[in-house]
Amino acid sequence: MSRPKVLALASLKPAAMQDKLLADYNVVHDIDAADDVKIVLTSGASGLSAAQMARMPALELIAVNGVGVDAVDLVEARRRGIRVTTTPDVLSSAVAEMAIGLALATGRRIAEGDRFVRAGSWAAGDKPALGRPVLQGRAGILGYGRIGRRLADLLRGLEIDVLYTARSEKQNAPDGFRADAAALANDCTLLFVTAAGGAETRGLVDATVLQALGADGILVNVARGPVVDSDALAYALQTGIIAGAGLDVFDDEPSVPQALIDAPNCVLTPHLGSATDAARAAMAALVLDNIAAHVEGRPLPTPFEG
Ligand code: NAP
Repeated sequence: MSRPKVLALASLKPAAMQDKLLADYNVVHDIDAADDVKIVLTSGASGLSAAQMARMPALELIAVNGVGVDAVDLVEARRRGIRVTTTPDVLSSAVAEMAIGLALATGRRIAEGDRFVRAGSWAAGDKPALGRPVLQGRAGILGYGRIGRRLADLLRGLEIDVLYTARSEKQNAPDGFRADAAALANDCTLLFVTAAGGAETRGLVDATVLQALGADGILVNVARGPVVDSDALAYALQTGIIAGAGLDVFDDEPSVPQALIDAPNCVLTPHLGSATDAARAAMAALVLDNIAAHVEGRPLPTPFEG
């Protein structure tokens, strides 16, 4: 039997997973030769637009190697009955860990300190600026889903009080609820953004929220760039409206606004939230499981049910 065709707009990691994909499927990369393609593999960042779907009349499955579906045109996929799968849960610890790392790097000036040593400033007798305590603040989590709740668990383990907001208050949540982002920011010094991307959350962290976070506040975004208004954030960093920011995600990746590159006390990472070998291997395994289930007519292990 010939191997099913998969249009791969993303690759799997580690290499053994990519090898398995290549061994089990006829993997093609050219969307111009995809009129008979039934399965697309894509990343959370790349997604799949309606225009791309239009070039694949036989498309049945979009397997996303990630959990963000903001770059997939879900309305069009639903209209055409194209199924979508993601890789939930297996990356939550990795992203939560990254969020805590960014908070510490920002508050304790770790990235700045690294640059200071490498530039020879320490040897030259200079003193770095003082940081601020991170683990003594109160944390607010904007988006209390799988990643947000995992982050909350880790923060509570560090004896930090945690508050959250989401679209709805959760039953039996161990953390305090606030009605919206501004109320949350007002009551915390560490504001973590872990909400889903997309039109509904665009600009949720705006100038008002940053003002509410205040001059001692640190913002960490590991969700999607557009959830934070980047112009308002650059202004808040330049003028001391907030103390600092740790950012893993941006509006137009891989481009990062110069105002954020120039902003003082802003730690920038290139969308590394799930980028551990363990998380990526588990994500790849789920992608392969979903594709195999679709081909064999079994229930999909992790369909996106948004
Ligand atoms: P999830 O379980 O679906 O959680 C999403 C959360 O966002 C939910 O709590 C949801 O609220 C909340 N939310 C949605 N719209 C909102 C709104 N208008 N206001 C407030 N909260 C809102 O997803 P997850 O697995 O935790 O992942 C979250 C996001 O992280 C993904 O969508 C992705 O964009 C991002 N991510 C980033 C990386 C990285 O490398 N940096 C890696 C993986 C994922 P309700 O609970 O009330 O519905």
